[in-house]
Amino acid sequence: MLAQRTLKSLTRAVGVGLHSGQRVELTLRPALPDSGIVFRRVDLPQPVDIVISPEAVTDTRLASTISSGSAKVHTVEHLMSACAGLGIDNLVIDITAEEVPILDGSASSFVFLLQSAGIELQGAPKRFVRILKPVEVREGEGANVKWARLSPYEGYKLSFEIDFDHPAVDSTGQRVEFDMGSGAYSRDIARARTFGFTKDVEMMRANGLALGGGLDNAIVMDDYKVLNSEGLRYNDEFVKHKILDAMGDLYLLGKPLLGAYSAFRSGHAMNNKLLRELLAHPDAYEIATFDDEKNAPKGFATLARAW
Ligand SMILES: [Zn+2]
Repeated sequence: MLAQRTLKSLTRAVGVGLHSGQRVELTLRPALPDSGIVFRRVDLPQPVDIVISPEAVTDTRLASTISSGSAKVHTVEHLMSACAGLGIDNLVIDITAEEVPILDGSASSFVFLLQSAGIELQGAPKRFVRILKPVEVREGEGANVKWARLSPYEGYKLSFEIDFDHPAVDSTGQRVEFDMGSGAYSRDIARARTFGFTKDVEMMRANGLALGGGLDNAIVMDDYKVLNSEGLRYNDEFVKHKILDAMGDLYLLGKPLLGAYSAFRSGHAMNNKLLRELLAHPDAYEIATFDDEKNAPKGFATLARAW
């Protein structure tokens, strides 16, 4: 059986929120089979649980925010991406403030944290959402067009194209494809950092945003170049970060996907719209499990043994 996964032991991280600049502590705890991924706001007078789902996403400006009532957690996508990359199905995430810490601006610190705690295989089959028919969302016309699509594929792969008119981005790859079957998420995707432009950062700060952002947790560019003295981690780091974000946004479905995601200039809002579009078409997907892990798509079974 290809089994569900949680952590072997609990693990902690401390950092600051990218937008709030607030200090925040995370405690990641093992969770029961079929309980999914749950954020728990432990700083509130009564702790509030927020179970991840496409409907729990209530704000997609700059980052993906999930809520339950008035309790919120901002910027969940990089931690969710690490969970997707390592195939974590069940987890309780205690959090002491309204925003997940940004750490180094990528998913690699979360990958390290999850791997250090160890991955436990559980006594229940891993449940995938298998795409049976293409589902697409699209906005704008001509030069403003953007779209995102899920299509049938017995595995999980993502392709993304960005179209940034900026000298520092133009000179790098603007399109990338990543297949989970490569087993290379941690090496090829997880280290890609979030990025921003100094002129936007000034405007965001004036509006009380990006207060925790800086050169140690983002790629920052002026009108011409990358300002980080260490340069880029990958020559196509920008578009790889968009793949990282998309993996995190799509993991809010609550189950891993079997399918191919492709997107042009998509973002948090459109990724969430795509999940809602999928759920609105029950004939476009089915739940899949693998009694024999040998029948699971390349990557999933091999990774199960290696972990
Ligand atoms: Zn991001």
